[in-house]
Amino acid sequence: MERWMHDSLDIICFGRSYWQLHKEIDEKAKELGIYHRICGHAWYWKFKKLWDFENPFPVEELDKGVAEIFESIPENLRKTFKKLAIREAVFSLDKEPLIKEVFQVYVCHCFWDRMWDDYTREERQQRKKFVRAWILNPKLLYEKADVDVIKGKTKVKRNGEEWENSPYLKRDYANLVKIIQSKFYL
Ligand SMILES: [Zn+2]
Repeated sequence: MERWMHDSLDIICFGRSYWQLHKEIDEKAKELGIYHRICGHAWYWKFKKLWDFENPFPVEELDKGVAEIFESIPENLRKTFKKLAIREAVFSLDKEPLIKEVFQVYVCHCFWDRMWDDYTREERQQRKKFVRAWILNPKLLYEKADVDVIKGKTKVKRNGEEWENSPYLKRDYANLVKIIQSKFYL
């Protein structure tokens, strides 16, 4: 799946694009095309072994597999994991959930890529149009995805619900919109 799609889905699901992570996971895409997934996509290759579409995120398997998956990730990607978690932790009192979120983002990347394999060209176009429309609609993002891309805030649930500053959201969102708007062939 294309990078802007991964970035967009993460804004909707996680409230930030994690573009650095997707960039590194798909680093080999230019060189290797569809074969790029031999690097950096460990969870993708566990399809039908540890997970399937009925149960895409089996908690026990994920818990057991964390170390193995982490070890199988190329060194540069592992560094990004740590960098991202540390960078984000600077802005948050609660470090541990963010490290987990980075891992979730990685697993979701593999999940989406595997889903994408089975879609027809028409189904892909349809989904791209849908995600594009979501991202270009800040009001919808605010109301349905709890992301305020205008003020750069996301709603988090800890003890109660509150809007929290998301330091790079405005910049990352603006860059993503530029990329999406350049894709008028959609
Ligand atoms: Zn990928």
